[in-house]
Amino acid sequence: MAKVKPFMIGTKNAGKFLYAGTEMLRNGGSAIDAVEASTKLVEANPKDDSVGYGGVPNLLGKVELDASIMDGGTLRTGSVGAVKGYIHVISIARMVMEKTPHVMLVGSGAELFAKAMGFKKQNLLTKEAKASYQSFLKRYAGQPKEGEKPWYVKYDVDFGLREWYDKLTEKQHGTVNIIAIDKNGDICSGVSTSGTAFKFPGRLGDSPIIGAGNYCDNRFGAAACTGRGELAIRLSLARTIVSYMENGMTIREACARGMKDINELHEKGDMNCLAMDNKGNTMSASTARESIHWYMDTDSKEPEERKGIWIKE
Ligand code: ASP
Repeated sequence: MAKVKPFMIGTKNAGKFLYAGTEMLRNGGSAIDAVEASTKLVEANPKDDSVGYGGVPNLLGKVELDASIMDGGTLRTGSVGAVKGYIHVISIARMVMEKTPHVMLVGSGAELFAKAMGFKKQNLLTKEAKASYQSFLKRYAGQPKEGEKPWYVKYDVDFGLREWYDKLTEKQHGTVNIIAIDKNGDICSGVSTSGTAFKFPGRLGDSPIIGAGNYCDNRFGAAACTGRGELAIRLSLARTIVSYMENGMTIREACARGMKDINELHEKGDMNCLAMDNKGNTMSASTARESIHWYMDTDSKEPEERKGIWIKE
């Protein structure tokens, strides 16, 4: 494999946060360190309402985070899901990969692990996210009266869960995907999200599911997804896109085919992917809009916006 200049790519919300990781790559740092550093900045950005602090909460008003990280050299990976109270889930996922014999920890177990690893608990719900939750309650459920159980407890899943999820997931969701390649040719991919807005508590999307929202293999490349996670899980989408490259498709063809596979499910909800191949080519694709991604290498002065493809059907 020809040597590739170290670089990173990220989704729209990663833009300026690629500086930090690229600086590490410039100083000879690893792809894993670069991905973690840039992802942490997105997690800490209160203006991003789909990742970390500031993420939109679940049905009960609690912010619940998912993340995963994968090392393309060893195929080691770690993920956490439905984590409350810890902002840097990308780092907890990395610890799962590096310090445990496991791949995935969720809910109270993941929180216990985070505490044991010395992560500090903190509030993740910003004023804006709380206001968004209040207006969601007003719009879809009405405010419970004093002493009355809220609607979602009374009616549980029969109360049109599928219908309002369809409505909500059209707009309110997002994820950060970041992929880097370092001076040794090692590729790392990382994904972090608060998931779909007002999701059912305990719902996991594609982000913490290795192969669905995230996959990385030095021999072929990496892919990560954002969008309605349930669809990516059903297709093992990230792994499938990497497999398409493995089997001879160009990165553009592989991403296009992945989006076509989503369209062929004929379900509500959009899907987007970000990918890198082992030659250093990059691509993004969407079923719903003009797709862009950010690129930054060790010689870049600033992140460069790259156009992806829109696969409409
Ligand atoms: N894929 C994420 C999830 O389903 C949300 C998103 O990227 O929009 O949790």
